[in-house]
Amino acid sequence: MTPNTDLNLPLFERAKAVIPGGVNSPVRAFNAVGGTPRFVQRAQGAYFWDANAQQFTDYIGSWGPMILGHGHPEVLAAVQQAALDGFSFGAPTEREVTLAEKLIALLPSMEMVRLVSSGTEATMSAIRLARGFTGRKKIIKFNGCYHGHSDALLVKAGSGLATFGNATSAGVTLEAVQDTLVLEYNDIAQLEEAFQLYGEQLACVMIEPIAGNMNFVRASAEFTRRIRELCSQHGALLVYDEVMTGFRVALGCAQSVYAKQIPGFAPDITVLGKVIGGGMPMAAFGARREIMEKLSPLGPVYQAGTLSGNPIATACGLKTLELISQPGFHDKLGRQTGRLMAGLAQAAHEAGLPFSTDYEGGLFGFFFLPELPTTYAEVMRTDGQRFNKFYHGMLERGHYFAPALYEAGFVSAAHTDADIDQTIEAARAVFKTL
Ligand SMILES: *Cc1c(COP(=O)(O)O)cnc(C)c1O
Repeated sequence: MTPNTDLNLPLFERAKAVIPGGVNSPVRAFNAVGGTPRFVQRAQGAYFWDANAQQFTDYIGSWGPMILGHGHPEVLAAVQQAALDGFSFGAPTEREVTLAEKLIALLPSMEMVRLVSSGTEATMSAIRLARGFTGRKKIIKFNGCYHGHSDALLVKAGSGLATFGNATSAGVTLEAVQDTLVLEYNDIAQLEEAFQLYGEQLACVMIEPIAGNMNFVRASAEFTRRIRELCSQHGALLVYDEVMTGFRVALGCAQSVYAKQIPGFAPDITVLGKVIGGGMPMAAFGARREIMEKLSPLGPVYQAGTLSGNPIATACGLKTLELISQPGFHDKLGRQTGRLMAGLAQAAHEAGLPFSTDYEGGLFGFFFLPELPTTYAEVMRTDGQRFNKFYHGMLERGHYFAPALYEAGFVSAAHTDADIDQTIEAARAVFKTL
């Protein structure tokens, strides 16, 4: 498409005049891959259409929430009915209780849960709760994990364990990040050293159990077991940020995947988002009763929200959770994702390209690397130019992947065998040009 016929371009120009960078969340701006973002006009099932009315097969699904595909008729009906009954009350509703009961039934590690409106809000509140519960202030996070944009989490590693984090954003004070220690993902020796130095001062360790914000990198079972042991020994809480993995990788979330390998495994606090709202602003954090009872109005840790547990969002989330709870849902989703990954890997190998893939349920990652990476530094060894060329080749052919090599991909229940085969065929053609 030439610039003067691309109708996304004038929209982007208009947007840039009134919204910083033309977008309301940075990755949408295509800065990593270059070019003009596609302005979505509408979506249905596994597809969306941009300003040129070009159809794309969507492998982002709003970065995870659209696990049933866009516009599922039963979800749509639930949202429409809820809207007729009122948009927001600032008073409790039955659906909030039903949703809390549903979440607790699906996650044995959770006895109580608080609903909020975004993943950022949920992770931020989980840290406050961990600090309030333990009476300690230091926290550990891992390089390459994203936990939303609250101040204490916008931080990268300092030089060595003696120095705490450096802010990754202007406007974040030294004081806001000075209690955040940033460690390498999957590095057991460094984790042990950190606990030796700071174990008795640690309120919590927060981790993405399968990191979906550095493409797709699993925490090894050994690493996970060691984090659990060290947290228990030192009285720090283990916070699982399952905003992305929750109900997407398995009905029991990523913690159920690890519980299969580590008998008795469970985190202390779980943070949820994305899928639980089915595309509406909704997130949550929960834990065992003893921890959750520290929250206001029961306990001293303050937390609140005007739109928390919004009636339309709870209707959308509940119907989504109900539909994905059907027997075999995640097995089938995993088979579709596996089919896509196997097809891409085969096509890449035929083209003589280094390529590795991994997936769990409806979450996937692929790398132009011969071996799967296990740390952020290894992820960033991917050939960025090759990825960008692949990205634009696929985009031209109508297949929409994440516009950055450090993001994961998403398959929905609406993706058919034919959709996936077409994507593999398109990739086969694009791989030959790399
Ligand atoms: C998306 C995400 C968040 C932030 O959620 P928002 O709703 O965008 O604020 C936090 N943690 C993880 C793991 C995420 O993927």
